[in-house]
Amino acid sequence: MTKVLVLGGRFGGLTAAYNAKRLLGSKAEVKLMNQDRFTYFRPALPHVAIGVRDVEELRIDLASAMPERGISFAQGKVEKIDAESRIVYYKKPDGGMGEEEYDYLMVGIGAHLGTELIKGWDQFGYSVCEPEFAVKLRDRLKDFKGGHITIGSGPFYQGKNPKPKVPENFVPQADSACEGPVFEMSLMLHGYFTRKGMWDKVKITVYSPGEYLSDLSPASRKAVAEIYKGLGIELVHNFRLKELREKEIVDEKGNKLESDLSILLPPYTGNPALKASTKDLVDDGGFIPTDLNMQSIKYDNIYAVGDSNALTVPKLGYLAVQTGRIAAQHLAKRLGVNTKVESYYPTIVCVADNPLEGYAVSVKDDTWYGGQVSVAQPAAVNHLKKELFTKYFMWTKGDMVLEKFLGSW
Ligand SMILES: Cc1cc2nc3c(=O)[nH]c(=O)nc-3n(C[C@H](O)[C@H](O)[C@H](O)COP(=O)(O)OP(=O)(O)OC[C@H]3O[C@@H](n4cnc5c(N)ncnc54)[C@H](O)[C@@H]3O)c2cc1C
Repeated sequence: MTKVLVLGGRFGGLTAAYNAKRLLGSKAEVKLMNQDRFTYFRPALPHVAIGVRDVEELRIDLASAMPERGISFAQGKVEKIDAESRIVYYKKPDGGMGEEEYDYLMVGIGAHLGTELIKGWDQFGYSVCEPEFAVKLRDRLKDFKGGHITIGSGPFYQGKNPKPKVPENFVPQADSACEGPVFEMSLMLHGYFTRKGMWDKVKITVYSPGEYLSDLSPASRKAVAEIYKGLGIELVHNFRLKELREKEIVDEKGNKLESDLSILLPPYTGNPALKASTKDLVDDGGFIPTDLNMQSIKYDNIYAVGDSNALTVPKLGYLAVQTGRIAAQHLAKRLGVNTKVESYYPTIVCVADNPLEGYAVSVKDDTWYGGQVSVAQPAAVNHLKKELFTKYFMWTKGDMVLEKFLGSW
């Protein structure tokens, strides 16, 4: 039987696997491999840091969720893909090595969080990108007695060559891989410290490796700058983080910002497993260039979805889900299923939540790609949308079949 192997068990991989199985049924065996048995709803990890959610509420057990839908699951850390011989090499949980053959491969192992690129990370770095980081930050915030807090993202090491085979305006060059969580966290901290009666003891600085939120329209950026001004949050552009110290952070040019607590979205680089794979599968940054059907431009039996795909800029869950759906539809059509293949169209869709103050800013923007849509709306109902979206993800175990219609992150 045709074997479809999906690598990665978060937005991109889960969407690809669920949709492939739904469309292909008994025409193919679908197997998903992820390095961990459990996967977490990442957009609510900032909520863990401010103590409004527990990590356990956001956890899905792939070892039971996959078989429930007729998908087999293997826990394994992909070491490399040999695209010529169609074999994935991986490390088993017991440390032994394994090999997995495939007919079709869907790669959704995301990008790499390059914490090793920031000096002082181990001693002074805090983040919300993975569950263990969010818990560590929650504990630090509980004890924080006041002082300077910096929040920002490290540089994005985006690939440049070869380019995806898509309209050029779909893949802008970005200084940061994703600044939505930085914006969200800055709002949340206002709520957090206001509730504790400590806002006057805290000085927050938000920094960006380029122009902050450059993926939004000038009007939306201006609105954000106004919000920050109103809250007394300082905004620093073009600060490419290099080092964290006990009381300050330093950029590549030697500029410094005072910082008693340094929260960051680490630099994004290509996944090491992809960098170690067949050379012409990836671009010079370690991301997989594809066409609009998410098919590798070199290996037509390999699809890339989500953050692993060179096409998705910024690295956004909304785009991961869209690319996962398209890859599954395209593969199913190739294998004889009468289905429509959606057209990829990039848009920034996200919701920056501030639960402790009961509102969220809902963003929809395609101006970076040459479109006309630019919405950035703070409203109480947007907080409710984020709540519902979290519940929807957990309820469906990441199979967000209605996301296209309800889509509001
Ligand atoms: C704190 C935070 C909040 C966010 N909030 C939002 C939001 O509100 N809205 C939005 O649209 N986007 C949001 N994003 C972006 C979004 O989370 C990512 O774009 C999305 O997770 C990408 O999904 P993915 O499946 O492509 O990759 P990932 O989420 O990175 O998932 C990759 C999966 O593959 C596994 N994996 C990695 N390497 C290997 C390997 N070698 N072998 C096997 N498995 C491996 C990982 O464990 C993981 O399960 C947020 C990001 C962060 C960091």
